[in-house]
Amino acid sequence: MTPEPVKNQYEMRDPLSQYPRPPFPRQPQPAPGLASAMDPTPDHGEDSYVGFGRLKGRRALITGADSGIGRAVAIAFAREGADVALNYLQVEDSDAEEVVKLIEAAGRKAVVIPGDLKDEAFCRALVQQAVDGLGGLDILVNNAGKQTAVEALADLSTEQFDATMKTNVYALFWVTKAALPHLPPGASIINTTSIQASEPSKNLVDYAMTKAAIANFTGSLAKQVAEKGIRVNAVAPGPYWTALQPSGGQPQESVTKFGEQVPLGRPGQPAEIAPLYVLLASQEGSYMTGNVYASTGGSLY
Ligand code: NAD
Ligand code: MG
Repeated sequence: MTPEPVKNQYEMRDPLSQYPRPPFPRQPQPAPGLASAMDPTPDHGEDSYVGFGRLKGRRALITGADSGIGRAVAIAFAREGADVALNYLQVEDSDAEEVVKLIEAAGRKAVVIPGDLKDEAFCRALVQQAVDGLGGLDILVNNAGKQTAVEALADLSTEQFDATMKTNVYALFWVTKAALPHLPPGASIINTTSIQASEPSKNLVDYAMTKAAIANFTGSLAKQVAEKGIRVNAVAPGPYWTALQPSGGQPQESVTKFGEQVPLGRPGQPAEIAPLYVLLASQEGSYMTGNVYASTGGSLY
């Protein structure tokens, strides 16, 4: 049964039936994958996120903003009044174009900066272009990520290990380091970690390590920059219905039953996690720093 579309995120609903439940069709796509190729279509809040000016006039850089969680955060931020710089990989241009249209429809500015975060020089250029394009920077969302499931350690190549570390950990360091000098008091950094940081799956050795590193980095950096009035937090998603999963993040047998294992029995939709990022970015979160906030469908982070 197809659930009724969500018309506004404040409408009271039964979370069990609010969104599609497994089984899902097999749907392999090459990494990084496109949201537009997913079945069922993910909900990023396109038709449901209602903003209230909670980020009025703020300037945000979001990595991995073309699809999935990053797209939902970009839509929410724009509808809360923020201008948004989007980073993603060039091959994801078609997904990113949809996000740009939605940001502009919300009356906000979108600055597109595609490029590969595995390159340190690009990470520095990304921050500079975001600052130039937005006229400053108040919010940094480090959200891009690489996840490729491998059953046995013997089959985990050095190339993959290196690419996962570069994308998920080095880029976080490079982008954050470049952004810090631009961030004023009141600014917020939000990193995307995972339930994998505390409950690593046997086929996600390299990925789960990076997510633990991201949670840990969040703690040390928050202490370091507290005196500047900058807050640093992480969001830990459980299973979310995004292109990351069918494009190699999970074997296809697991894609068909994705989310089945959590108490709510279904994957989260990106629209369901964007409000956490909004809270952490906004002044409502003024006493929130150095922590990890989870949205997992019921598994304890
Ligand atoms: P997604 O595929 O929609 O988004 C990930 C994005 O990362 C891609 O769109 C891509 O633009 C970007 N990216 C990957 N490699 C890159 C590179 N080298 N350079 C620049 N950009 C690159 O999937 P998502 O699930 O929305 O992922 C967002 C974050 O959420 C990731 O950090 C992921 O680890 C995390 N996460 C996802 C889940 C889940 O179940 N979907 C669970 C826990 C954590
Ligand atoms: Mg994408």
